[in-house]
Amino acid sequence: MTDVRNVIVIGSGPAGFTAALYAARADLEPLVLKGLDAGGQLMLTTEVENYPGFADAIMGPELMEQMEKQAARFGAQILPVHATRVDLSERPFGVWAGDQEWRAKTMILATGASAKWLGVPGEEKLRGRGVSACATCDGFFFRDRELVVVGGGDSAMEEATFLTKFATKVTIVHRRDTFRASKIMQDRVFENPKIQVIWNATIDEILGDAAVTGVRLRDIVTDEPRELATDGVFMAIGHTPNTSLFQGQLELDGGYVVVREPRTATSVAGVFAAGDVTDTIYRQAVTAAGQGCKAAIDAEHFLGSSERGE
Ligand code: NAP
Repeated sequence: MTDVRNVIVIGSGPAGFTAALYAARADLEPLVLKGLDAGGQLMLTTEVENYPGFADAIMGPELMEQMEKQAARFGAQILPVHATRVDLSERPFGVWAGDQEWRAKTMILATGASAKWLGVPGEEKLRGRGVSACATCDGFFFRDRELVVVGGGDSAMEEATFLTKFATKVTIVHRRDTFRASKIMQDRVFENPKIQVIWNATIDEILGDAAVTGVRLRDIVTDEPRELATDGVFMAIGHTPNTSLFQGQLELDGGYVVVREPRTATSVAGVFAAGDVTDTIYRQAVTAAGQGCKAAIDAEHFLGSSERGE
């Protein structure tokens, strides 16, 4: 029989590493399956200026490296493996990476979410060079520039409004003739003189070599193509929570793991979740880290009460 761990953390963004740090400091000897592309969404960004404690900013990958080292310093075992299967149907829970199996009394799910991308030519090449999916992270670099935001939901409204703090002009490109965003967020956009909207348009290509210089648009009513000059393109076409591993094993809502707020308990006793995998609203590194801390404390309480037979 495989050893049964106290806690297995799946995922290695701010939520996963903070959960590991707290679990390690509580002597729970956590195992972290950090995945092959460890570090979560902060690995995709450059300077992080809104994580408290770094007055001079810190690079996203450097912040994640520090979080990993901090968790390891207190004894978290961190493996660069990608979990391919979980079994949450009975305790101890099971996790596999290929043929390798681990068992644990509690699990903390912190697999995050991934921004959706358009999948058009130029997008991947120019990511980090004007193509971004995080206005909060990258907006600051576009002071006095012109920007495009893609999408018609609350995120697009929020990102466009936020970006007008820096940009001289923000153009929202939306594929229909109405937004799906809430009225209040739409009103904010319509009242902002720096924002214009191009309706019924898709982006066929992002233009530029070393940096974004423009987009090739297509009017979906007339099928007419046209080019629009821009210094940056912000995607706000939604996020996909990384929950395919858990489908059918615990309660999900719109793909997100449902937690019993203010706690991090999921619908399965002994399984906790933290960070963007649960979060449809905040999606910040600091909120994910905070929830990771809560998940570790919740797991510790759960282990204590199971041992006392409660
Ligand atoms: P969303 O509501 O799913 O909106 C995604 C938008 O992107 C939609 O307008 C959609 O167009 C468009 N889109 C999707 N795929 C596309 C593609 N391939 N090409 C072009 N456009 C595409 O996502 P969200 O805005 O990220 O919001 C997610 C959730 O978080 C929502 O529940 C939202 O209310 C919430 N949220 C709340 C706040 C807030 O209250 N402050 C802020 C942000 C997010 P269609 O409309 O044509 O489908």
